[in-house]
Order: sequence, then structure tokens, then C-alpha cells
Amino acid sequence: MAFKWTDERVAKLEMCWADKDYSAARIAKEMRKETGEQLSREAVAGKANRLGLSKPTKSSVTRQQRQEERTEKVLELQPPADQGATIFSLTARTCRWPIGDPRDTDFHFCGADSKTGQPYCDYHAAMAYRPPKAKGGDGAEEEADHVHVPKGGPLTNHLPNS
Ligand SMILES: [Zn+2]
Repeated sequence: MAFKWTDERVAKLEMCWADKDYSAARIAKEMRKETGEQLSREAVAGKANRLGLSKPTKSSVTRQQRQEERTEKVLELQPPADQGATIFSLTARTCRWPIGDPRDTDFHFCGADSKTGQPYCDYHAAMAYRPPKAKGGDGAEEEADHVHVPKGGPLTNHLPNS
């Protein structure tokens, strides 16, 4: 017995078809279950075609692309305002990224807000996990100075001699 497309069934087809989680096969299966009549995936697709329904296409953006975009966004973060934090003003919620040379009197820490439990603000966390730049090239040296990290990791117990 051929499947009879009543208004109600057509309405249901239209509704399900617009939902990208419903494939033609799934719609056919559910309608078979509901009506007890025979209905193939092809019949569903054909009916939808005749109704001029268009299936929403899945986003062409892949998971990997989204991840890459996210990574790039992190790297594009602007440096936080320099809080001039000292070892005394660091808390569990401030970034302890060292700025300057520990031997200089103006050595201090970033001091921007960090997420609880994180040693660095978003900007410096991104910096910390960034692969090291190849040496050489214009300005590479300068930038390396600016984000100078002492060997053995950032100092957290070193006071400037002032
Ligand atoms: Zn920071």
C-alpha cells in the first residue's frame, strides 16, 4: 500500500526536513513507525523535492578550522595594561609574568587579572604555550627581550634591589 501524504504528514515532513538532525532515512523510519505504512527514504526525499523543500546544509566550517581560528584569536590578544605588580601585590588571581630584567629596578610582573588557578593572564598564557620563535629576523631580538623569561621559569620569589 502506497504511503498517503495527508496534510498532517506533509506538515510533519516539512518540519522534520527543516531540522538538519533529521535525515530522509530518519524521517522515513519515524513515519513508518507512526503510520504503520511503507515509506522509503527515497520516497521522503522525492516528496520533499516535489514540495520544493531545501535541506539546510551542514556548516562547511570543520571542527579543525574552528580550532585554528580560536588559536589565532588567542595569539591576537592585546597585551594587558601594565599593572606594574610587584611580588607583594601578586595574588592567586594576578598574572605573574615577569616583565623586564630581574636585575633591573623596574622589574615587575604583569599583574593583570588571571583566571583562578592560572599563573598568567590570557595574553601571557598564550605566550607561554606558543612555540618559540626562530632566532634572527627583524625585531625578533627586541621582542624576545620584552617577554624575557628567565631560565628555569618565571621568578616568583625574587625581589628587585631597590
Ligand atoms: Zn599577563
